[in-house]
Amino acid sequence: MSAPPPAPEAEEFRRHARAFADWMADYMAGVGDLPVRSRDLPGAVMERLAGGPPEEGEPVEDIFRDFRDAVLPGITHWQHPRFFGYFPANNSPPSVLAEMLTAALGAQCMLWETSPAGTEMETLVLEWLRRMTGLPEGFEGAIQDSASSATLVALLVARERASGGRANREGLHGAGPFAAYASAEAHSSVEKGAMVAGFGLEGLRRIPVDGAFAMRPDALEAAIRRDRAEGRVPACVVATLGTTGVGGVDPLAEIGEICAREGAYLHVDAAWAGSALLLEEHRDMIRGVERADSFVFNPHKWLFTNFDCSAHYVRSAEELERTLSVFPEYLRTEAGDRVTDYRNRSIPLGRRFRALKLWFVIRNYGVEGLRRLIRGHIAMAGDLERRIAADPDFELMAPRSLALLNFRLRPAGAGDGEDLDGLNAELLRRVNESGIAYLSPGRVGGRHSIRFAIGQRATTPEDVERAWREVRRIGGELAGA
Ligand SMILES: *Cc1c(COP(=O)(O)O)cnc(C)c1O
Repeated sequence: MSAPPPAPEAEEFRRHARAFADWMADYMAGVGDLPVRSRDLPGAVMERLAGGPPEEGEPVEDIFRDFRDAVLPGITHWQHPRFFGYFPANNSPPSVLAEMLTAALGAQCMLWETSPAGTEMETLVLEWLRRMTGLPEGFEGAIQDSASSATLVALLVARERASGGRANREGLHGAGPFAAYASAEAHSSVEKGAMVAGFGLEGLRRIPVDGAFAMRPDALEAAIRRDRAEGRVPACVVATLGTTGVGGVDPLAEIGEICAREGAYLHVDAAWAGSALLLEEHRDMIRGVERADSFVFNPHKWLFTNFDCSAHYVRSAEELERTLSVFPEYLRTEAGDRVTDYRNRSIPLGRRFRALKLWFVIRNYGVEGLRRLIRGHIAMAGDLERRIAADPDFELMAPRSLALLNFRLRPAGAGDGEDLDGLNAELLRRVNESGIAYLSPGRVGGRHSIRFAIGQRATTPEDVERAWREVRRIGGELAGA
């Protein structure tokens, strides 16, 4: 059978796609030469893009030229080897290739029937990841768009469990009030989830942390006791492995025991640190995870898979589906009872084919290839930690957690009383303005710190060295001023 002659549209697509592929390869190879953070001021992109939607279509060449000249300068390069801000949102060649296929297919994977491969591959890669991270057998779940969504879903399931299904059925007036618990260092998504799920900010207890920035189990117990005495239902505890600020790790085993005793739902937020579970030597973190009701981590942070891709696991898929299922007539399918319809495991109905990029990444790197990359990042952070500790003008603000450091400039002889916050804000500003590296601000014990998170695919020890040299150079200027 010979293929039909290609339509002119397909030929044009082929031509542009080839040119784009060349551009993407050049971008990946050369991104390290660009300033990491965009140098645009607010409004600059809008100004360059001024004008209304064109009445008649324009050639792709023209649109691409504007992308290059008007859009690109407004991009902060997250895939830059010296992007050390926030947490990484890294990607990789196999992930980008898969995203191209996903876009071409344009499949909407809400039901098994609307693309069996979307559903079955999601089940498959979640099981692969479960084994790769050492999570307990039987944990299954869904790929969500974000850890924030997974945490919100966990709070909803907890609410339904605590109210015996009443909250979904009757609304919140007849149920609760509920309380949720997370450490003082937990991510803001827990707060947002508590607002959305009807716990209210007043129903969220921020539990104090110990000297290692981990939730104090005794304080958790005390808070639960107080709530019971006041007639609140302790419904959900969110434990964090790898807090966003300093990478604190909550004691899962102790917290799990308390939850089991109190009948509270236990959700584990390992958004960033979860990827380190590929390394046996970091599995201590999940001692006690058998007691967790759900667990989330983000391959879109530190597992070389394009945003968005959050792996959300639950112990009881049945309980999750009971919380999120609705059954309008138009969503009924013949296979419905025999297959997983992932729409019942997440809040939006529509679902992208997110599993494909993960499948490409895991197969192309192999588990050992992924381990090597992550281990490399942690080793680079260890080297940097030693250099900071040995530098008389700088100090670590918290112990290193995996590949995350918090430090500040404290010129030799300077007392804590001096305006170190102002000095460090200025240091950060100038480093980021240099374009050589990108770091982000932190707060440790109420004081300004500078966060340095290593996790880009192409980052080398020379990149870390170059960024550190720049920090020291500017720090030296500021200290001498
Ligand atoms: C990044 C982060 C989140 C939020 O992740 P999203 O996928 O962007 O919602 C939640 N918790 C922790 C601990 C994080 O580091």
